[in-house]
Amino acid sequence: MLFRRLLPAIAAVTALSLTSACGGADDNTLQGKADDGKLTIGIRFDQPGLGQRRLDGKVVGFDVEVAKYVAGKLGVPESGITWKEARSADREKFITDGTVDFVVATYSITDKRKEKVAFAGPYFQTGQGLMVRYTDDEITGPQTLNGKRLCSVTGSTSAQKVAAEFAQGVELVEYGQYSDCVTALLAGNVDAVTTDEVILAGYVAENPELLKLVGDTFTTERYGVGLAKGDTAGRDKVNSAIEQMVGSGEWRKALERNIGQSGVKLPDPPQVTEK
Ligand code: GLU
Repeated sequence: MLFRRLLPAIAAVTALSLTSACGGADDNTLQGKADDGKLTIGIRFDQPGLGQRRLDGKVVGFDVEVAKYVAGKLGVPESGITWKEARSADREKFITDGTVDFVVATYSITDKRKEKVAFAGPYFQTGQGLMVRYTDDEITGPQTLNGKRLCSVTGSTSAQKVAAEFAQGVELVEYGQYSDCVTALLAGNVDAVTTDEVILAGYVAENPELLKLVGDTFTTERYGVGLAKGDTAGRDKVNSAIEQMVGSGEWRKALERNIGQSGVKLPDPPQVTEK
């Protein structure tokens, strides 16, 4: 009698544990999607050393290596990854509308972004800096930007910082991606480019006779892996993958391989705090 009354409950519990164990198409969690053997990951295509799509179609960079490591820990090999370009202004949207399963794209953890998406990490720390033409000796730091045209990217913390703090004397020019700012700088259409030092250093490394970094960094940017809000288990898995990447020495090796040539001082790994 008691057993008969319990039967529906037992059936329900079994069904529940079966769906969560199998994942599958109707499981909307990160692990559920990874269990299908495929993931779509948002990266940058134009940031040397971090996320770059080469002419042969191969994607390379430190962010790409972090993304591959995380995917691997979720059980998805590189052959199962679809890479999607996620520019600064697209990241929250791509995560919330499901265009990508997660983002590893020089994505600073901020409270404002956390209203829409969740972060795992951080996995890297840098700060906002300034890049100018090699021959420029007038701009030496943010305090010397008065009357200058400064380029940054829509949807980035870098552009927000300029708007909030240097707006009076500086003309902010916004593009969709940093490589367009670099082109504008080399063409003389803007006087400086501002974003995270590690990004700028990648462009300087490609054009050391034409570009240089000036001044000290003036913000702290902590890069996180952006993913859907509410998937706590998914975030925990990404956090543990980051910790394993650091602990195994892979993190440092990937950093040296990708950022080592850029001249930027290689930082120690940050503590994972987004729990
Ligand atoms: N890390 C900053 C941000 O997330 C600037 C770099 C970028 O735009 O990707 O906005």
